[in-house]
Amino acid sequence: MLEHILGYRCVRCDAQLSGDLDDCGTCPDCGIDGILDVLYDYDRVRPTLTPEALSQRPRSLWRYEELLPVRALTGRPGTQPGMTPLIAAPRLAKHYGLRSVLLKDEGRGPTASFKDRASAIGVQKAQELGRERIACASTGNAATSLAGAAAAVGMPATIFVPKRAPVPKIAQLLVFGATVVKVLGSYDDAYELCQAACERFGWYNRNCAVNPYLVEGKKTCGLEIGEILGQDMPDWVAISVGDGCTVAGLWKGLDEMAQLGFAQKRPRILAVQAEGSCPIADAFDANKDLVPGGVDTLADSIAVSHPRNWRKAVAAVRASGGAFIRVRDEDILKRPGEVVQALEGLGCLGIVTAEVLKQ
Ligand SMILES: *Cc1c(COP(=O)(O)O)cnc(C)c1O
Ligand SMILES: [Zn+2]
Repeated sequence: MLEHILGYRCVRCDAQLSGDLDDCGTCPDCGIDGILDVLYDYDRVRPTLTPEALSQRPRSLWRYEELLPVRALTGRPGTQPGMTPLIAAPRLAKHYGLRSVLLKDEGRGPTASFKDRASAIGVQKAQELGRERIACASTGNAATSLAGAAAAVGMPATIFVPKRAPVPKIAQLLVFGATVVKVLGSYDDAYELCQAACERFGWYNRNCAVNPYLVEGKKTCGLEIGEILGQDMPDWVAISVGDGCTVAGLWKGLDEMAQLGFAQKRPRILAVQAEGSCPIADAFDANKDLVPGGVDTLADSIAVSHPRNWRKAVAAVRASGGAFIRVRDEDILKRPGEVVQALEGLGCLGIVTAEVLKQ
């Protein structure tokens, strides 16, 4: 285990584990539902992760070395995601009577999505473990980012896509040199096959939700907000939610920056789901276990019928004192107004949205 890591905590039964994890390390008692959270030794992190030290470091997510589940970096890793700009949106703020609105433009990553943060960690981890190939099942932004991050370090990647995968999305993967396996079945079939192939051939599995390391990559968005806006933290941060990894990572980063003294306070999280696919919002509001739901929305990146990381997502939003809202497709198409109106209803003053739905 790495020196700055204390161990892992199961999000379902709270058990603490130590030692090295398998690829998709989960709690032995809880199985696939027992997703783990990486625990850091903050007393060890504090002396070296200082504003002065950060001012000398690369303008990418690799600047937060002490808070990442990777070995001290020797040489520069392949892709350099992170440190995306915060853009003021004064007209939006004025229109809705908010103090200010900032947009964090996650479209500036190496393959233009938030997923680049997770894929960078995945590829780094695969290299550390001496794996020859990395794989995932997806047709969306996760697949593209993995293909790009793997290409950048010359690691072969295999992407399992369902039968209905759109041709332009497959083309993107091929451009990065990935091997694409088209599975004659659904996304779930592709996921299962990927899982089986990784076990059989020893490939590194980037299937995100259950792999505790990848959320740590997504966390860096929260670390950046804490580092940059630490003295004037937003009251709310709004973010879209599919599997739940992004919102969980975001909150962890914000929380760590408060713990380490960079940020004066922790924002509340406004978690946004599409009305046609909102099982995590339902579980949050009902305070019950998640019930898989239908998928009826054009927001394909957050259309997830059975989100795997819902416990981490619900715990994050609850710990922040935040809320879930559901947005109709017609409003997603029309304007971000619905979100902002809901914010007004909650009496909040400022937001950061981490990623506007990318279609
Ligand atoms: C993946 C993704 C999300 C949601 O992230 P989860 O970790 O699945 O909750 C939101 N927006 C976009 C554009 C995405 O690609
Ligand atoms: Zn457990």
